[in-house]
Amino acid sequence: MNIHEYQAKGVFAQFGVWVPRGNVAHTAEEAVEIARRLGGSVYVVKAQIHAGGRGKAGGVKVCKSLDEVFEAATKILGSTLVTHQTGPKGQLVRRVLVEEGLAIAKELYLSLVLDRENKRIVLMGSTEGGMEIEEVAKKTPEKIIKESIDPIVGLQPFQIRNVVAGLALSGATAKLAATFLKGLYQMFIEKDASLVEINPLVITADGQLVALDAKMNFDDNALYRQQDIVAMHDPDEEDPLEVEASKADLSYIKLDGDIGNLVNGAGLAMATMDIIQHFGGRPANFLDVGGSADRAKVKAAFEIILKDKPKAILVNIFGGIMYCDVIADGVVAAAREVDLNVPLVVRLQGTNVEEGRRILKESGLTIISAQTMEEAARKVVAASRAGV
Ligand code: GDP
Ligand code: MN
Repeated sequence: MNIHEYQAKGVFAQFGVWVPRGNVAHTAEEAVEIARRLGGSVYVVKAQIHAGGRGKAGGVKVCKSLDEVFEAATKILGSTLVTHQTGPKGQLVRRVLVEEGLAIAKELYLSLVLDRENKRIVLMGSTEGGMEIEEVAKKTPEKIIKESIDPIVGLQPFQIRNVVAGLALSGATAKLAATFLKGLYQMFIEKDASLVEINPLVITADGQLVALDAKMNFDDNALYRQQDIVAMHDPDEEDPLEVEASKADLSYIKLDGDIGNLVNGAGLAMATMDIIQHFGGRPANFLDVGGSADRAKVKAAFEIILKDKPKAILVNIFGGIMYCDVIADGVVAAAREVDLNVPLVVRLQGTNVEEGRRILKESGLTIISAQTMEEAARKVVAASRAGV
């Protein structure tokens, strides 16, 4: 699960990790009121969406007066921000964060991320703040310092010293950094985070260390014990089809191809996507209806796939616990009810397969049937092209 920058900064503050003073606004009037209360002469208005790259896309405005805050908030709220992380459709901005403007002396990068391969949390730092870290990793990997943290003993003083030295910090700022890093690690553990990224972490003109940006992701499996985080969930930031699928208890992930997939079992779904790619097609989604799909669930899955407007659909079912005839029944019912208007390829294997195939055949629907994965993939790729 992801949260907004302003929410992440709220969590940071609970752990003594320094952030700029500020608050969230839903209207331009609210934004001005927050700026007025902040005082000072420089403010920053920042679009709140679950994507980075807002600065370059015009979603971060430094303002020198309350009038400018009003203007910036009016412009950003209700606009659709397209950044390299939102995809071409962009994301509608419904909230802005209004903060005190800081005089930045230096921009750094800092993150904590779960390294699944080593089963450890890795602390990463770089002097190249404010840039895309992927770019830094590609062009100047030596500029990224990494410390892998042993979960038994936690973040060690020598590791803090390594990172502080790597970030070229010394004196009072180095001391601040040590406190900052300890707070950050404590927060990561206590909040069951899977990622914390601060880009940029800034040193201000008066030597303070402040998280200017804040990104936080959480381990979904631990959300049951993080109710305050769950309360921050913003459904507006999710793909509507993914929300609908999750309500129907389907594992659905939207992709950018044009072949819709309905499969039972995550492993088979992965294999199906692979074989479609192998034969030159592009999957529009990953959809696992699960082991206990019934007619209603198959129908819900069909509706979601159709809303994505694919050029063809592949149903690939292996009947193990589930019977092929039950699935065939569900497919036929769903195809009739949802007014199917794209080619449908069905491959059934497993328990009661003969009965399943008979149901499909006698349904009167135009179903292209296939016996093997290869045949199914070839047929659906061909069908997706035929309509172009
Ligand atoms: P992102 O583009 O979505 O990663 O958004 P950031 O929060 O990183 O903001 C983008 C850039 O805006 C930062 O790298 C800063 O250069 C600038 N910025 C953000 N807040 C301030 C501020 O308080 N003062 C100044 N001078 N610049 C800021
Ligand atoms: Mn950033």
